[in-house]
Amino acid sequence: MAEAQGLILEHTRPLPAEQIRLEAAAGRVLAEAARAAVDLPPFASSAMDGYAVRAADTPGRLTVIGRIAAGEPAAVGLESGQAMGISTGGAVPQGADVVIPIEYVVERDNEVEIDSPAEAGSNVRPRGGDARAGEIVAQAGSPLTPARLGALAAAGIPEARCAQRPRAAVLPTGTELRRPGETLAAGEIYEANGLLLSAQLAAAGAAVELMTAVGDDEGAHRAALEQALEADVVVTSGGVSVGPHDLVRRVEAELGVEEVFWRVAVKPGKPIAFGVRGEKLVFGLPGNPVSALVGFELFVRPAIRALQGVPEPLPQFERGRLTGGPRRRNQERDELVRARLLSSPEGAVLEPLSGQDSHMIARAADADALVLISRGEGEITDGSLVDYLRLE
Ligand code: AMP
Ligand code: MG
Repeated sequence: MAEAQGLILEHTRPLPAEQIRLEAAAGRVLAEAARAAVDLPPFASSAMDGYAVRAADTPGRLTVIGRIAAGEPAAVGLESGQAMGISTGGAVPQGADVVIPIEYVVERDNEVEIDSPAEAGSNVRPRGGDARAGEIVAQAGSPLTPARLGALAAAGIPEARCAQRPRAAVLPTGTELRRPGETLAAGEIYEANGLLLSAQLAAAGAAVELMTAVGDDEGAHRAALEQALEADVVVTSGGVSVGPHDLVRRVEAELGVEEVFWRVAVKPGKPIAFGVRGEKLVFGLPGNPVSALVGFELFVRPAIRALQGVPEPLPQFERGRLTGGPRRRNQERDELVRARLLSSPEGAVLEPLSGQDSHMIARAADADALVLISRGEGEITDGSLVDYLRLE
């Protein structure tokens, strides 16, 4: 698994960057650090509704000389003996150094009585306290999460340099495949991988073209693959095994795809194929839907992330405890077991689902995580610490 992932990343170069308006940048990955255009906050502002005063004047009785609303600063500064009403987000006037919350003050006849000494600076949000102008708000390689979009907007950044979205073509193969909604003839099944893989690709940041499934016919494969190869990344499903109708690798070779590897010691997903044509990445995932799902997480998602310049593109496994009885290791292949992820006072607990066969997508759809049972002899006892990968 690790060797295959290494080979994929060796063949993956980040895509060029482009300037993107923030409105269209959700989920994109920054190609350059984004720096604050202004101090954040841009001016000392009030954290409360209350009265802006001088701490040195407290306790005491002060004259209210004006009201400051958010977006409507005072025209004059504050002198000793004076107070100004101020709303949350209002600019603290020159001369004031503290805001007394409205709850602690009674105003009568344009005067406020403040009973106790106030501490300079309290309830004042200092200019630049969150970020200074020119400071990095988000590093290169970080995805623009909702919070980061908010941070960039707050810092006055209207657009950002982001990696291009990888263009990905998804091509399901198999004569037996029908669209859901169509009637199944004898021996036919509904096509699941196209939607499954398209959704995974989109979630990983790719711009996806889902192609119509092709039958197990060389001519149909050639035409569809030729079109698919216009994208940066081609993801096929099915037809990469050893049967006489498994045509994907052969036709790809005819189209100039150089195979980098075929078959990985993982379960499910053993017959996965990976090749390149120039900078284009070509993944052949097996047809069983769970194999496609797992193969995507282990091998395709890292490539999509690397194309976007994510600094740590490989799956991030976490540690948790296995429950539900002992599990026998597979001697030849690392196994990825579909499991529920539960929380307990002792940490994460992984409960394998019943029905682990690679065609059982309905069972696998309930999984929160893939538990890695590394290959070897014997069994993993119940309660052992295992590595798991969260599914999104
Ligand atoms: P293959 O990898 O082409 O040998 O297919 C392995 C198994 O997965 C077979 O049972 C196929 O019928 C099934 N399969 C292939 N492609 C799909 C698909 N797109 N959706 C659902 N099942 C599929
Ligand atoms: Mg097939």
